[in-house]
Amino acid sequence: MVCKVCGQKAQVEMRSRGLALCREHYLDWFVKETERAIRRHRMLLPGERVLVAVSGGKDSLALWDVLSRLGYQAVGLHIELGIGEYSKRSLEVTQAFARERGLELLVVDLKEAYGFGVPELARLSGRVACSACGLSKRYIINQVAVEEGFRVVATGHNLDDEAAVLFGNLLNPQEETLSRQGPVLPEKPGLAARVKPFYRFSEREVLSYTLLRGIRYLHEECPNAKGAKSLLYKEALNLVERSMPGAKLRFLDGFLEKIRPRLDVGEEVALRECERCGYPTTGAVCAFCRMWDAVYRRAKKRKLLPEEVSFRPRVKPLRAG
Ligand code: AMP
Ligand code: ZN
Ligand code: ZN
Repeated sequence: MVCKVCGQKAQVEMRSRGLALCREHYLDWFVKETERAIRRHRMLLPGERVLVAVSGGKDSLALWDVLSRLGYQAVGLHIELGIGEYSKRSLEVTQAFARERGLELLVVDLKEAYGFGVPELARLSGRVACSACGLSKRYIINQVAVEEGFRVVATGHNLDDEAAVLFGNLLNPQEETLSRQGPVLPEKPGLAARVKPFYRFSEREVLSYTLLRGIRYLHEECPNAKGAKSLLYKEALNLVERSMPGAKLRFLDGFLEKIRPRLDVGEEVALRECERCGYPTTGAVCAFCRMWDAVYRRAKKRKLLPEEVSFRPRVKPLRAG
C-alpha cells in the first residue's frame, strides 16, 4: 500500500475509509480531521480555552496534543482516583506529558479531597467501582470546569467508546438516554459544555496517531474495567467491523444523523440546585452528595472517620504543571 497523498510507503491503512497514508500525511490528516469535527459541531471557538480531562491513556493524551497544536488553550485536568499503582502511574505519565510540553495541568486527588479513593468509596457506598468512579469523575470534572471558569470540557472518547455506548443503549432503549448521546452536550447554568472531538476516530486510528507522534502513554487498562459490559459490546462491534469495514462508523453516524433528530423527548426535566453543593440536580440533593453523605455515615459507624467531620463537596485542584 502507498500513501494516497505522496505515493510513498503507507504506514497506516484504513480499510473503513478506503485510505492509506504515510507517517507525515497521517499525522496531518488526523489533526485536520479533528478540526473538521470541531467546526462541524461548533465544539470550540477558535483559540478557546478548554479543559481537557486527561486519564494518561492514549486517547486523552492524543487529544491534549492535537488541541494544543490546533491553537486551543488546552488545560489538562487529571483525577487521581486512588486505584493503587494504576492510578500512580496514570498521574506520572500525565505529569511527564505536561512537563515536557510546558502545558498547564490541574490535579484533583480523590482521597485527599474527600478522604477515600475509589476502592474504599465503592465498598462504603455499596456501588460497583465503575459506577462510583464514573459519578465522581463526571461531578469533579464539571465542578473544576465551572469554578475555574471554563465554558467547555473535552474528553478523549473515540468511535469505539461511542458505538459501544450506543449499542448498549439500544439493547435497553430509552428515548431520554438515546437523545442525550452525541459528540456535544451544550452548557447549562452550573454545567460546562462537554465535547468529544475524537468521536469519529476508531481506537486503532487514535492509537496510530499516538504511536506515530511518539506520545508516551499508560498502556494498562484500569483493573476495574475487566468484565465490563462495554468491553463485550466493543468486541461484538469489532467482530462485525472485521467483515464489514466501516460498519462502526455507519452505525454511529447513521444514528446521529438520521435517528436522533427524530426522537421525541418532550419537556426537558427541570434542574435545580443541590441543597448540599449548589450544582444542578433533578432532586433535592445530587447523586454525588448523596453518595458521599452515605459513605461518611457508614465510615463513622465503622470508626474510619471521627464523628465531627462532615462531607464537604468543594474541591480545589492543585496546579501541577
Ligand atoms: P474512560 O471512561 O476511562 O474510557 O475515559 C473516558 C474519558 O474520560 C477519557 O478519554 C478522559 O477524557 C476522561 N477521563 C478518564 N479517566 C480520567 C481521569 N482519571 N482524570 C481525568 N479524566 C479522565
Ligand atoms: Zn504521504
Ligand atoms: Zn451536590
